[in-house]
Amino acid sequence: MTERVFVTRKIPEKGLKLLKDEVELHIWKEEFPPTKEEIIRQAKDSSGLITLLSDSIDAEVIDKLSDLKIISQYAVGYDNIDIEKATEKKIMVTNTPGVLTETTADLTWALIFAASRRIVEADRYVRNKRWEVAWSPELLLGKDIYGATLGIIGLGRIGTAVAKRAKGFSMDILYTTRSVSKKTKLVERELNATRCNLDNLLEKSDIVTIHVPLTEETYNMIGSRELSLMPKGSIIVNTSRGPIINQDALITKLSENHLFAAGLDVFQNEPLETDSKLLQLENVVLAPHIGSASIATREKMSTICAQNLIQGLHGETPENLVNPDVLDM
Ligand code: NAP
Repeated sequence: MTERVFVTRKIPEKGLKLLKDEVELHIWKEEFPPTKEEIIRQAKDSSGLITLLSDSIDAEVIDKLSDLKIISQYAVGYDNIDIEKATEKKIMVTNTPGVLTETTADLTWALIFAASRRIVEADRYVRNKRWEVAWSPELLLGKDIYGATLGIIGLGRIGTAVAKRAKGFSMDILYTTRSVSKKTKLVERELNATRCNLDNLLEKSDIVTIHVPLTEETYNMIGSRELSLMPKGSIIVNTSRGPIINQDALITKLSENHLFAAGLDVFQNEPLETDSKLLQLENVVLAPHIGSASIATREKMSTICAQNLIQGLHGETPENLVNPDVLDM
């Protein structure tokens, strides 16, 4: 019998085409995502579920979807899924690492540039017809990137891709990870990067960029104390997950101009509240969680996401299994 699969939003056609040949596909086609209750209703009797990072796949959802064999997440981060519960219920969970690394590193750099050189503010200045004097010695002065110190919190796939780009700007690179691997050692050698603890990194960096996953350990890891350690006039960029920074503390440090600017692709709550104080600040560049949003990358993500799911349903070990413990159960 063909297995039933529920996809919580329309993903690019390439992946859907692969799935259509293999499973009985049900796709949520509304503009707004399904609620938790709707996911439970729609995915009832499904063996496979394709999810987005905005879907809360918590213990309640997992408990109620008793036929589920695999959850294939259309993202590299999977903090929206209760992995422990899924493993307990023998449900495989997969993600889409790697394919979105370079695209997300590009977006990180777009935010570094925009925040340092006030690009969005400059655009608003011209559009709002405030450009009245041809050239002004002190108009929209920004911060230099070339030769600055870049602090990378989390030197994994995306952090490393960000570091590689920094080489072209002759930057000093500091980084923090919990463990040292062959890969981080290689980056140290090739890019002359220095590993240090978080406090040192914050104290010494002109620009800090965050690339750790959201976990219990990283939730609010950058709070008021940590932001105070950053030198006055420094910049912070977050393309990882919003709750890693305490957003209220960040708003305070930006309002006080302790920080020169921030570039944010991710927020405490998404979408950002329409009355958020962040919207009133000139010195923050805001993007609506578009780190991996290139045409080619989203297509690749849909293919990998579909392949993971098909492998799992065929009884194979999916290439991007995030809870391998499930195989021993
Ligand atoms: P990755 O390769 O797993 O890298 C994560 C890095 O964080 C590793 O170097 C890891 O090293 C380090 N780390 C984990 N916990 C840490 C901690 N408590 N303190 C310090 N370092 C820690 O992941 P990735 O592919 O680069 O992706 C990173 C994150 O980016 C994802 O989890 C996702 O949330 C986010 N993301 C966002 C977008 C977007 O659209 N904005 C797109 C893609 C990804 P150790 O384990 O040695 O500590």
